[in-house]
Amino acid sequence: MGPQKADLLKKELALFTFKDLLEHYPLRHLDKTKVDKIKELNYNTDYAQVAGKLTYFEVLGERQSKRLVAYLKDDTGEIELVWFQGINWIQKTLETGHLYLVFGKIGSFNGKLQITHPELEPYSAEKAGGKSFLDPIYPSTEKLKARGLNGRAFAKLTYALLQMLSAKDLPENLPEPVIKQYRFISRWEAVCHIHFPSSEEMYQHAVRRIKFEELFFAQVRLGLRRSERHRFSRGFSFEKVGEHFNSFYNNYLPFELTNAQKRVLKEIRKDVGSGRQMNRLLQGDVGSGKTIVALLSMLLATDNRRPEDQQPFQTVLMAPTEILAQQHFNSIENLLKDLPVCVKLLTGSSKGKARKEIVSGCEDGTVHILIGTHAVIEEKVVFKNLGFAVVDEQHKFGVAQRAALWKKNSIPPHVLVMTATPIPRTLALTAYGDLDYSVIDELPPGRQPINTIHRFENKRPMVMDFLREEIAKGRQAYIVYPLIEESSKVDYENLMKGYEEVKSFFPEPKYWISMVHGRQPAEQKETNMQRFVKNDTQIMVSTTVIEVGVNVPNASLMVIESAEKFGLSQLHQLRGRVGRGSEKSFCILLTGSKVSKDARERLNIMCATNDGFKIAEKDLEIRGPGDIEGTRQSGVLNFKLASIIQDKTMVEVAKEIVTTILEEDPDLNMAVNLPVKNHLQTHRAKTVWSKIS
Ligand code: ADP
Ligand code: MG
Repeated sequence: MGPQKADLLKKELALFTFKDLLEHYPLRHLDKTKVDKIKELNYNTDYAQVAGKLTYFEVLGERQSKRLVAYLKDDTGEIELVWFQGINWIQKTLETGHLYLVFGKIGSFNGKLQITHPELEPYSAEKAGGKSFLDPIYPSTEKLKARGLNGRAFAKLTYALLQMLSAKDLPENLPEPVIKQYRFISRWEAVCHIHFPSSEEMYQHAVRRIKFEELFFAQVRLGLRRSERHRFSRGFSFEKVGEHFNSFYNNYLPFELTNAQKRVLKEIRKDVGSGRQMNRLLQGDVGSGKTIVALLSMLLATDNRRPEDQQPFQTVLMAPTEILAQQHFNSIENLLKDLPVCVKLLTGSSKGKARKEIVSGCEDGTVHILIGTHAVIEEKVVFKNLGFAVVDEQHKFGVAQRAALWKKNSIPPHVLVMTATPIPRTLALTAYGDLDYSVIDELPPGRQPINTIHRFENKRPMVMDFLREEIAKGRQAYIVYPLIEESSKVDYENLMKGYEEVKSFFPEPKYWISMVHGRQPAEQKETNMQRFVKNDTQIMVSTTVIEVGVNVPNASLMVIESAEKFGLSQLHQLRGRVGRGSEKSFCILLTGSKVSKDARERLNIMCATNDGFKIAEKDLEIRGPGDIEGTRQSGVLNFKLASIIQDKTMVEVAKEIVTTILEEDPDLNMAVNLPVKNHLQTHRAKTVWSKIS
C-alpha cells in the first residue's frame, strides 16, 4: 500500500499496524445466495440485500440537497437507491442495464421505500448460484471509499496479510485449561475465521473466542491492578472493635441490621483490619440502608489509634449536595449524641469564625467525624490523622475528588464509595472492576412497594385531587420539576409557574407549600427543607436537588412533572424519596401527550418494578454502556466485539477465571514465559498501562 493510503487508514480508522488490521473485524459477511425480493420489503424491514438491474440513475439537487438517485429492478419490483456523499466516484461505478447486488438499511422518503448509502457491487447470477459465499464486508468511511477502500476492498488487504502469516505468528494467548474447558478454537483459527469463515458455524466459534479474549484480558488488567493494590498499598490497620462501635451497636442502633448490612460490615471490617488500604464500592438500592453501614464503619475508625503516637483516627463523610450533607449531619449527630464523639459539618456555606473552628478542629484532631460537601477536600482542610473516608452517592463525584482524599494523610485513608442507585453487575465487574465491591441486596423489613402510575397532563386536576385526599390523611407530597440545565431559564420559569399552579390548587390556608431549588441561597434551601422535614409544610415543590438521599419518612406521595425528560436511574432515585415510612406510597409520573418510544419504555419499566437492580439493567440496555457516567473515560469498556449487555455470562466467566488465576499467581509470575504475560507486554502494553494506571 502506498504511503498516502496508509496515512488515510491511520487518520480515518486508527489502523497503524498489521495487528490493527487483523482486529479490524468485518461488520458482516455477504452471503450472495440470500437475496430478498423487492416486492417483499416493507417499512418494518431493517436491512435488506437485493439483486437486480440498474434501470436509471441521475444526480439531483444543488449543494446540501445534492444527491445521486438510482433505481434497481428485480423481477418483483423496483427500489430507489440514494447517495448524498461520494456522489462523483459512485456515479463512475454505475452502469445502466448492469446487474448489481445491493445491501443496506431500508428507509422511506415521502412514503416511498429507499436504501440510503447502500453497499453495491456487480452481480452475476451464475456466480451466486448454489454455493454460499461468505465474503467479509468491513467498516469503512466515505473518504476511504473515495480512494477505493470500500467495505469489500478491505477484504483483499486482510486476505493478503493472512497469507503472509501462519499459526506461529499468533501463538496461543489463553491458558490451555481454559481453552479445553470452554472448547475455544485456537487464536490463529479464530483470526482466520472471523475474517474468512468456512461456514456460519466457524464464524460463530471465532466470534465467541475473540469476545472471550477481550473480556479475559480486560479482567486480567483490572485484576492485576486490584491484586497489586492489595499487596502493595499500605493502609492503616483498625485492629480492635472498641467502645464507640460497641456502645452504639448495643445501645443506640435504632433497628436490627439486615443480613446484607451485617455481611457488608464484615467485609469492610476485614478490609480495614488487613493493613492494606481499602478501596471499596458499596452499592445498594435506594433506601437499602447504606448510611448506617457507613456510620458503623466510621466508628470502627474512631475506635482505633495510630500506633506511633496513639492519635485516634478521624473520619470524613462527603455528600454531593448541601441538603444531603446537612441531613447526614443532623441524623448522625443525633444518633451519636450520647457518645464521646465530636461530629461537625463543613459546607460551602460554613463561613467566618464557625468555619475556622471546624477547620482547626480537624487539624488538631478534636473533630472526630467531619461531614460535608466537597468543601471537605479543599486543600486548606487538613487533618491530624484521617483514617477513613466515605464518599456518598458516588456518581456525582469525579475520580479527581476521590484522589484528593488519598492525600489527606501520610498513608492514604481507607475509602468507601457508595452509589446512589445500583450498578448492573456486569458494569460493576468491568468499569469498576479495580475496586473491591460489596452489595446490599436486601431492603429493611416492612417496606411496601411504591405504587407507580403514569398519567397524561390532562389528568392533572384528578392527580391534584388525589394529593389533596392523601394530604388530608396527614401525608406529605413532593412535586418535582425537571431541571435539565442548572442555568436554563425555561426550566426555572416552568418551576415557578408550577409553584403558582400548585398554590392555586391548594388555596386553603391549612396547606403549606415549600419550594427548594438550586438557585436559592443555602440557608433558604435548608430552612425550606427543614420546614418540610418537621411537617410544617405538606407539599414540597422542588427541582431534582432533592434527588439524592433526602429522607422524610412521612412523605408518601411524589408527582414527577415532565417525567419523560428524566432518565431511568434518575426517576428511580427520585422515587426513592417516598416509600420510606410505614404508609402506602405513590409515585405519579406526569407527561405531556406526546411521549417518545424510548421515554414510554422508561415509564413502563418504572410502573412495572421497584427493583433498582432490574432498572439499572434496563437502563444499561437502553442507553448502552458508553452513556453511563464515569465509564467512558475508564477505557475498560472499549471492546471491539464483546458487549457487556449481550455477553453478560461471558463477563462473569472471564471474571471468575481471572480471579482464580490471580489468587494462585497474583503477579502472573508463573505466566512470565506463558503467553498471558507476553500478551500483556505486547498488546499495546503502553497505552493500556497508561490508561489504567
Ligand atoms: P440509602 O441506602 O438509600 O442511602 P438510607 O441509609 O438513607 O438508604 O436508609 C433508608 C432508611 O432506612 C433510613 O430511614 C434508615 O434509617 C432506614 N434503615 C436502614 N437500615 C435499616 C434496617 N436494618 N431496618 C430498618 N430501617 C433501616
Ligand atoms: Mg443515601
